[in-house]
Amino acid sequence: MIPFSPPRMDQQIVEEVGKVLLSGWITTGPRTKEFEKRLTSYIGCRKVICLNSATAGMELVLRWFGIKEGDEVIIPAYTYCATANVVMHCGATPVMVDVDEKDFNISVANVRKAITSKTKAIIPVDISGFPCDYEALNALVNEEGIKANFNPNSEEQKQLGRILVMADAAHSVGAKYQGNMNGSVTDVAVFSFHAVKNLTTAEGGAVCLNLPEQFDVDEIYKALNIKSLHGQSKDALAKVKAGGGNWRYDVIEPGYKCNMMDIQAAIGLVELERYDSNLGRRKEIFDFYTKAFQNEPWAIQPAFLNDEKESSYHLYMLRINGATEAQRDEIINKIFEKQVSVNVHFQPLPLLTAYKSRGYDINAYPEAFNKYKNEITLPVYFNLTNDNLTTITDAVITSVNEVMG
Ligand SMILES: *Cc1c(COP(=O)(O)O)cnc(C)c1O
Repeated sequence: MIPFSPPRMDQQIVEEVGKVLLSGWITTGPRTKEFEKRLTSYIGCRKVICLNSATAGMELVLRWFGIKEGDEVIIPAYTYCATANVVMHCGATPVMVDVDEKDFNISVANVRKAITSKTKAIIPVDISGFPCDYEALNALVNEEGIKANFNPNSEEQKQLGRILVMADAAHSVGAKYQGNMNGSVTDVAVFSFHAVKNLTTAEGGAVCLNLPEQFDVDEIYKALNIKSLHGQSKDALAKVKAGGGNWRYDVIEPGYKCNMMDIQAAIGLVELERYDSNLGRRKEIFDFYTKAFQNEPWAIQPAFLNDEKESSYHLYMLRINGATEAQRDEIINKIFEKQVSVNVHFQPLPLLTAYKSRGYDINAYPEAFNKYKNEITLPVYFNLTNDNLTTITDAVITSVNEVMG
């Protein structure tokens, strides 16, 4: 069976993790700080903080910005549940909008229509690793009419003076937008290092801070660290450092517990060092699929490269033109019978109980449903061989013909 996305774990990772385990310091410490530094220079953003997930990162940022009950945050209906859940955890309302026709990402025209005087933030999601229309989104939140309608109710909101753009960049480490690294083109961008993502630490995430210059990002880094560790004024490493009186700390606020461990950062440091070769192989796989399906009349291939955007090649989201949801499901069964694992990304949130029961209706998101109903995600990872790729494309083409032919 060809698996869908096994992590790339090898002797180099085992050795680096082993060193941490025997170093006397296994939780947040020197490796985490080093990983943050390397990520900052790789992305070219102002500051990076690593945490135990992207979900935790997004929620901490929303809380730092003062998002609370009565506020609205605009998100795409087509995303993973984390994007909506962090908004709900803050007590605010996720306002879901439909995606664009041209790709799987949030439609800027629909974002414009959804903005109200309660809108505090927008969370665009780089589905599959393909960046959203950030120039248009950044221009939108900076329009005079829209800024005039913004109602700040925290110090941070007053300081920004407009809607915050926080990218859910869970898929898009290493993607490029207008020549810049993704993660450096919005106020905030949050990466995921979950086991199935392009660059993994088993579980983990990073918040890239790129807020305008009136913000002191070193201060925000400190504030987010404190929030990530119960509101403690000192982390564990600072407490054990030599010197009398270092045991004493204060708790400034009832914070959370979502710091990254050095064990995780050790994996991330290896992953980051070899990330360019990972991306290179992923691009070859996308090119292989593109060529294999180019003469198939039913194949709708995903966008992954154009004049202003380059994907991180995270998910190859193929669509079967003309397939109903039931036919797509049948095609997937046939592909699995041929010993190939595939997946579906994503079930639009209004199809899922937690959101449906709160009144979100899939009929309001026809584009998201059309994208989802005939979508099949194919395996993409460094260790796939060209023989594997031939097996996969043969399995897909044969299965589609069996069901649709
Ligand atoms: C994986 C994923 C997340 C969550 O990442 P975690 O690190 O698991 O919290 C958020 N958004 C999207 C779109 C994802 O795919």
